[in-house]
Amino acid sequence: MKPELSAPQTLVEHLPEEWEALLRQWGEPRFRALQVFRWIHQRGVLDPEQMTDLPKALRARLAEGGLAAPVEVARVLESGDGTRKLLCRLGDGREVESVLIPRGAVAAADIYAPQQDDEDGPQQGAPRAAVTQCISSQVGCAMGCSFCASGIAGLKRQMTAGEIIAQVIEGRRVLGEAARLSGVVLMGMGEPLHNYPAVARALTLLNHPEGIRMSLRRVTLSTSGLVDGIERLGRDFGGQVGLAVSVHAPADPIRTRLMPVNRRHPLQELIAALRAYPLPPHRRITVEYTLIAGINDAPEHARALCERLRGIAVKVNLIPMNPVPESPLGAPSDGAVEGFQRTLRQHGVDVFVRRRKGDDIAAACGQLALHGEKAKVRTHTG
Ligand code: SAH
Ligand code: SF4
Repeated sequence: MKPELSAPQTLVEHLPEEWEALLRQWGEPRFRALQVFRWIHQRGVLDPEQMTDLPKALRARLAEGGLAAPVEVARVLESGDGTRKLLCRLGDGREVESVLIPRGAVAAADIYAPQQDDEDGPQQGAPRAAVTQCISSQVGCAMGCSFCASGIAGLKRQMTAGEIIAQVIEGRRVLGEAARLSGVVLMGMGEPLHNYPAVARALTLLNHPEGIRMSLRRVTLSTSGLVDGIERLGRDFGGQVGLAVSVHAPADPIRTRLMPVNRRHPLQELIAALRAYPLPPHRRITVEYTLIAGINDAPEHARALCERLRGIAVKVNLIPMNPVPESPLGAPSDGAVEGFQRTLRQHGVDVFVRRRKGDDIAAACGQLALHGEKAKVRTHTG
């Protein structure tokens, strides 16, 4: 159940046992390992100079070794509905975005909100607002989906585990005492399973009992359907990580047109992988379905989708397409969205429509900007 992790790429992403090995080489006592790890992950302190209970020489060595914040929050944009978008600048100047979504304010936060049985113990004092954070896993994306600006722009580079987890560390800082980070969704820029080693390490860090201690049941990973990655995720984390899958079409020809990955992993194979995912009892897989005018939004598509999903524990999340300038594909009519939803309901499928929120700060799906590139393109997030 424990994932086999490849070697850490940066100091920030070291696990306690890796800190121990490194610090041993530096001649430091064993207990320093947990001290450093807790500074980073519990207290969110990434600057060695601020790790005040470490000896000066060790602080200097950590700084020389490159321990520093991998992500700088360049700007925070706040929407009228409480959604906040963080522009995260990486070390090489590239930017990715992350979104803080208060539960209740946005449909997506409720859809992916952890279930009641996962609640932490009794809360002390006044209840704090629960917030779900949507994070990115790559700069751009290699999957080439025709409705998605990051797909059209292509992959700029992979993110390190340190950069991925640092979005959460910075998100918690932005929230401060006022709110509680109750869940994380990997639905920002990028295909998380195409950066599996870094994502698996970031999940391990996020969940670590000496760190942020987030239950993996409060984490949802969204994938375009990389079947081997789904299997690996299920194996490595025992099905604890919530799975959302971008299905977007009930038949191979339409899906291949929208998502080139369907050539490699056609629907039948993908659906078999969903069936095999080792979900804990009472949990369901989220099927994401972006509705695109005239392509996949007719009642017969809805009926065919129900056929495909028969017998699997799923809920369907309909996302009316957010048009992007690079793609000729367009948003469905309100009538088509309602009709699609109705057909699914009639077949006994649980279905939600992800309403467009955070629009005024361009934080809805299809609206996150890929900064630091020549062309200003827009991309999506959950
Ligand atoms: N790469 C992963 C995770 C991020 S995308 C994936 O594809 O699943 C989060 C969701 O937004 C996906 O379901 C994706 O298909 C959808 N999406 C992307 N671009 C969109 C757009 N322009 N309008 C609506 N949904 C979009
Ligand atoms: Fe990549 Fe997901 Fe966009 Fe497809 S929808 S291009 S997989 S980010």
